[in-house]
Amino acid sequence: MADKTHDTLILGSGCAGLTAAIYAARSNLKPLVIEGHEPGGQLSITTLVENFPGWPEGIQGPQLIDNMRMQASRFGAEFRLGHLASADLSKRPFRLNIDGETLHTRTLVIASGASARWLGLPSEHALIGHGVSSCATCDGFFFSGKEIAVIGGGDSAMEEALFLTRFATKVTLIHRREHFRASKIMLERAMAHEKIRFLANTIVEEVLGVEQKEVTGLRLRNAVTGEISTLPVSAMFLGIGHEPNAKMFAGQIDLDADGYIRTQDFVFTRVPGVFACGDVQDRRYRQAITAAGSGCMAALEVEKFLEEHGR
Ligand code: NAP
Repeated sequence: MADKTHDTLILGSGCAGLTAAIYAARSNLKPLVIEGHEPGGQLSITTLVENFPGWPEGIQGPQLIDNMRMQASRFGAEFRLGHLASADLSKRPFRLNIDGETLHTRTLVIASGASARWLGLPSEHALIGHGVSSCATCDGFFFSGKEIAVIGGGDSAMEEALFLTRFATKVTLIHRREHFRASKIMLERAMAHEKIRFLANTIVEEVLGVEQKEVTGLRLRNAVTGEISTLPVSAMFLGIGHEPNAKMFAGQIDLDADGYIRTQDFVFTRVPGVFACGDVQDRRYRQAITAAGSGCMAALEVEKFLEEHGR
């Protein structure tokens, strides 16, 4: 049993969690940040970030995260690697089981993010950041003048494919089934685009180029005929969805049908004193800057909540 009750505990160390930590630390709340399975969140696995205001030449994602972490530390935020096993939000202080230890906190900021779905191939994992990406807006630019593959059959895949036509000479959209989940309008738009070619009933078996440390192509299998083929491409973008990391709160706060935390007035969950920010509650924008903005809002609400309810 921990002998200490924290004023605020921040779950997640991506852009949202770290921004919340900077603001909470500057309010002298000594936030404890639980870093989770993917410290630094999605930015830590991207390369150059060119759209975060204030970096005219761009900044590497991991560097941006390191800077935010240092900034939060400077004002007294504390960090701990750990995984949330369970949480009891039924009364205050809230009780969180982190790797077997129970931590008590008066307020909670959930910034546990969303994780991109991957195919789960070893070759895919080896080439993340070297031609394999789950973020077209982050990494598309690096493949100007190249041929690119996009995987998926939903709106995200259509959106990524359409976006990538700005850079690529050709985009091959690969989907595992005959039928597409995407909305009619998005599907028609992608199908009508001269640079986009569709490959349905096709499974990616391997990403080629592990030895060269850059994607050189994909080995594909036709799901109907079993035929194996090779598609030369310089990049593979995954558009097979994201999973919000909120399952552990099911039943205690409201989640929507896809598992995203439902918030009101930007960051309020239905439990007073529990706030959510960043990709775990934002299925719409999913940008570093919007995550940072909502992290700021969550920390400001924490401060206000503690003023009203006492520390
Ligand atoms: P989604 O609708 O769940 O589609 C995921 C796609 O990825 C499906 O086609 C699925 O194939 C495929 N997939 C999943 N796992 C796979 C695997 N392991 N290997 C190969 N393929 C796999 O996800 P989403 O496209 O991210 O969309 C999520 C929600 O956001 C939707 O409601 C969507 O409308 C919305 N959204 C809207 C817009 C827009 O309107 N501009 C843009 C993006 C997203 P199966 O079909 O075979 O399951």
